[in-house]
Amino acid sequence: MRVDVVTIFGEYLQPLSLSLIGRARSQGLLDLRVRDLREHTHDRHRTVDDTPYGGGAGLLMKPEPWGEALDAVLDDPPPGAREEGPVLLVPGPAGEVFTQRTAVELAAEPWLVFACGRYEGIDARVAEHYATRVRVREVSLGDYVLNGGEVAVLVVVEAVARLLPGVVGNAASLTEESHAAEHDGLLEHPSYTKPASWRGLDVPPVLAGGHHGQVARWRRDQALRRTARRRPDLLARLPVERTDPADRAVLAEEGWVPGDDGRFRPTPAAVAD
Ligand code: SAM
Repeated sequence: MRVDVVTIFGEYLQPLSLSLIGRARSQGLLDLRVRDLREHTHDRHRTVDDTPYGGGAGLLMKPEPWGEALDAVLDDPPPGAREEGPVLLVPGPAGEVFTQRTAVELAAEPWLVFACGRYEGIDARVAEHYATRVRVREVSLGDYVLNGGEVAVLVVVEAVARLLPGVVGNAASLTEESHAAEHDGLLEHPSYTKPASWRGLDVPPVLAGGHHGQVARWRRDQALRRTARRRPDLLARLPVERTDPADRAVLAEEGWVPGDDGRFRPTPAAVAD
């Protein structure tokens, strides 16, 4: 996969040289190129910002450097790029929330380009213009405001790159994690390693019993209970048809019952709690 990042703070992306992502880069699985937006300015101060039309606090990034920088990236496609070009990712708090599903979709792409905003963001015409040329996705890490898009690049690249074949040693571990579609989008069960007893806390005996069926059942129960308690929004998306009678018994204990729409809903008593 090729990833181009346009930013005024390239140093911010240095962590992408470390650990599994760094190794993926040195193995040629990920070709990550950081490009300096200021290379596309033409004044002595290398200006990338200006005051917003209509007034208001803060400064906005000017469209001209972005146009030059993104045109230069698009003029340099990797071998195997799709005819429709890259996906252009524009981080911002007003975008679609980035989830594991987004990561899976992006991991199927050969080429991603990131436009990192700073100040109050990028002049809106930049995304509007490039939407006529490539697929633009404005993505948000969540409902809070950061200072710049570089942190979003760290998050998105890490979540996407670990899904690329060969990046994570044991591919099975990817499908057993929280939010994995193969795991019905549930949270993962709690996990333990040795010693069996630590500070008066014992590992649940079923995990040391060696009975694979019982371990699987215990893990599934824990995943359902955890999701019901911590993330009811995720549980509400679980199709009833993806559950068995034992799942439904656990969920009933947690106060969730099948609804007419094929999804679970909290019982009135659970909502009152
Ligand atoms: N004025 C913008 C708004 O209210 O929607 C916020 C701009 S923010 C201060 C500056 C930059 O930080 C954004 O252009 C974006 O690159 C990044 N950013 C801020 N919050 C973000 C979030 N929740 N997710 C992803 N990127 C974010």
